[in-house]
Amino acid sequence: MKLAYTHPSGIVVAQARSVLELAGIDSVIRNEFASGAIGELAPIDAWPEVWVVRDRDCDAAIRLLEEAQKSVDEADWECALCGSASPATFEYCWHCGGDRPSG
Ligand SMILES: [Zn+2]
Repeated sequence: MKLAYTHPSGIVVAQARSVLELAGIDSVIRNEFASGAIGELAPIDAWPEVWVVRDRDCDAAIRLLEEAQKSVDEADWECALCGSASPATFEYCWHCGGDRPSG
């Protein structure tokens, strides 16, 4: 088994695991219930972890998770008014100043 991913939020870790599941990569979560109460930061060694069952899947798993992370962080959004694509970091359309659609 190899550690592929860790994050302080159990929700994010569960999402990461479902990304792997969809890709047919077997994985398990460790430390799932180790984090502290809400609002309390768990020490890094208590973060929930995603472990890939087959070592040979590990590289693919890490790539998949990086791509999934990127698509969340950097996906362009399309302006409903003028149809221009703006970077994810823009709250308003670069072209016409229209509001970013929610969701
Ligand atoms: Zn626009």
